[in-house]
Amino acid sequence: MFALLKLTLREKKWVTLALASTLFVALFTYVFVDLVQPIIDDMLRLAPQSAAPATGRALDILWNFLSISRQDIRSALPFVLVIVIFGKGLFTFFSSLCMKVVGNKIVKTMRDDLYAHILHQSSAYFDQATTGDLMSRLTNDVERIRDAVSSAMSDIIEEAFILLALLVGMFVKDWALALMAFVVMPLAVVPLAAFSRQLKRTGRQSQLKMSEIYNILHETITGNRIVKAFTMEAFELRKFLKATAKYYRINIRLSWISSLSSPFMEFIGGVVGAFILYIGANRIAQNHISPGDFGAFATAIFMMFQPIKRLSRANNVIQQAVPCLDRIREILEIPPLVQDKPHAYPLPPAQGRVRFEKVGFSYHPGRPVIFDVDFEVLPRQTAALVGLSGAGKSTLINLLARFYEPNTGRITIDGIDITDVTLHSLRSQIGLVSQDIVLFNDTVRNNIAYGLEDTPHGRIVEAAKAAECHRFIMELPQGYDTPIGERGGQLSRGQRQRLAIARALLKNPPILVLDEATSALDSESERLIQSALAAVMRNRTTFVVAHRLSTIRSADRILVVDKGRIAESGSHDELMRKGGIYRKLHDLQFPEDQESPR
Ligand code: ATP
Repeated sequence: MFALLKLTLREKKWVTLALASTLFVALFTYVFVDLVQPIIDDMLRLAPQSAAPATGRALDILWNFLSISRQDIRSALPFVLVIVIFGKGLFTFFSSLCMKVVGNKIVKTMRDDLYAHILHQSSAYFDQATTGDLMSRLTNDVERIRDAVSSAMSDIIEEAFILLALLVGMFVKDWALALMAFVVMPLAVVPLAAFSRQLKRTGRQSQLKMSEIYNILHETITGNRIVKAFTMEAFELRKFLKATAKYYRINIRLSWISSLSSPFMEFIGGVVGAFILYIGANRIAQNHISPGDFGAFATAIFMMFQPIKRLSRANNVIQQAVPCLDRIREILEIPPLVQDKPHAYPLPPAQGRVRFEKVGFSYHPGRPVIFDVDFEVLPRQTAALVGLSGAGKSTLINLLARFYEPNTGRITIDGIDITDVTLHSLRSQIGLVSQDIVLFNDTVRNNIAYGLEDTPHGRIVEAAKAAECHRFIMELPQGYDTPIGERGGQLSRGQRQRLAIARALLKNPPILVLDEATSALDSESERLIQSALAAVMRNRTTFVVAHRLSTIRSADRILVVDKGRIAESGSHDELMRKGGIYRKLHDLQFPEDQESPR
C-alpha cells in the first residue's frame, strides 16, 4: 500500500493537480448538501420564520457575497444548484483525468524500466526465467498496477475528501445528531460487511466446483475412447452428477445470501433512518435544527454510502495490485551478473589474438563444465572446436563473448583482459553466426543491417552478394524491403543462414564465431553456404564449432574439446598422425573418409 503510494507520489505535478481538483469536488459536495436547507426552508417554505438560527452555512457567505436577499434566494436557488452540480462534475472530471494520467505515466515508466532491465540481464538469467512468466509480469502485473493507481488511488483520494466534507457538514449542522447517527450507523455497516464476506467466500467455492465440472468434462471428452473401451459411461456420469449436485447446492446458498442481502440491508437502513428521523423530528420540535438543515443532514448520510462503497472496492483493487508490485520489484532487484566494471574502457580495434589462460567455469556452483582451458589463436587464424555433444564447445564461445564470466583464469584479446573492457566495445568486435539463427520481424534490409541503421544500401547489397543472398532476395516480392515474418518464417533454413552470414559480413568484426549447422542441408544450399562462409572468414580470427570435414581440414588449429578440457590441439594431419581422441572422433563421424595417418 505504501509502496503504491510512493509510486503515485513520484508524479508530483499531476498528483497535485488531482488533489487540488479533489478539494474542489469536496467543496462543491459540501455546498450541494448545504443547498438542501434553503430548498426546504426557503423554496418550499416549510420552516416557520422562527426556525433555529442557521449555523456555518457555506451558502450564507455566497448570499452575502452576491448581495442576494432572503426573498431573492428562491429564484436564485435553481441556478446555484445547476452551477454547483456542474462545478462538482467538472472537477471530478479533472481529478479523474489527472489520476489516469498518473497511472499511465507510472505504467509506461515501469514497463520501460522492466524491459531495459530484462534486456540487460545476462545469459544466466534467461537460463532460468520462463518467457510466459516474464511476459505476464510485463503485461498483466503492470496493468493491475495501473488500475490500482488510476482508479483505486484516485478513489481513495477523492472519496476520502468527500467523506470528510460530508462529515464536517453533518457535525456543523447538528453535532449531537451527528454523534447519535455514528452510534447507530455501524448497525448498517457491520451486516453489510458480513454479507459481502459471505458472498465472496461462497462465490469462490462456486468457482472451485465449476472448475471440477470442467475437469470432468475435459477428461471425458478428450478421453472418450478410453471411457468407451472400458465401458465406464455410468461411472463417469455418476461422477458428473455428483459434481453438478455440489455446484447446485453452493449456488442455492449463494442465491439465499444475495437475495436476502438487499431487503435485509434496506430494512436495517430503514431502522437506522427511522431512528434518525425520530431524533431529528424531536430536535426540530425543540428548535435545535431547522427542517432544511435536517434535510441536508439526511442527504449527507445518504451520500456517504457511495464513498464508503468505493473505498472498500478500492481496497480490493489495491490488495490485488500489491503482489503484482512485489513480482515486478523481484525482477528489478536482480542485478545483471555480467556488467561493465566501474572503470571499464573501450576495447581498441582488435588485431584478433585471442588467449584463454587457465579458464575454469561452471553454470551452477559445484558443477564445473570447463577445466583449466589454455590456448592461443593468432590474428587471422581459423580455430575449429571439435568434440562430442556436451563437451563444452558452445560454453567456450559463450565465455569469449562474455555471455558468462569464467570462475577462474582469464581470457584476453590482444593481451587485454576482456573483463576490463566495456561489454559494448567487446561485442561490437565479435561477429556471431549461431546455429539458432535469430531474425526479427522486419524487412530483409533491416535484418542484415541489424544494429547498423545508417548503412548505405550499396554496402548492404555488397554484403548480401558476398553471402550468396542477393539472388534470392531479388526474387522476393519487395526485394530488400520484403518483411520476412516472425523469426524469418517465410524463408528456408539455408536462406536464413545466409542472411545471418550477410549480417556478420556487414558488421565486419575482427573476431568471428561460427556455429556450424549440424542438420544436413541439400548440396546446393551447402555449397552456397560454404562459399558465403569462406568470404566471411577471410582476414579475421575465426572460431568455428565445426561439424563439416571440409571446415575442420582447412582450419589452422583444431582444438579438441573433451569433457570441458582441451584434450588435443594441432592441425588435421598432426592430430590424425597422433591417433588420439581426434582420430577416433574423425573415424566415427566421417567413416567414408578413413585414411591412414601419413
Ligand atoms: P553441443 O555440440 O551438443 O552443442 P557443446 O560441446 O557445445 O555441445 P555445451 O553446450 O558447451 O556443449 O555444454 C557443456 C556442458 O554444460 C553440458 O554438460 C551442458 O549440459 C552444460 N550446459 C550448457 N548450457 C548450460 C546452461 N545454460 N546451464 C547449465 N548447464 C549448461
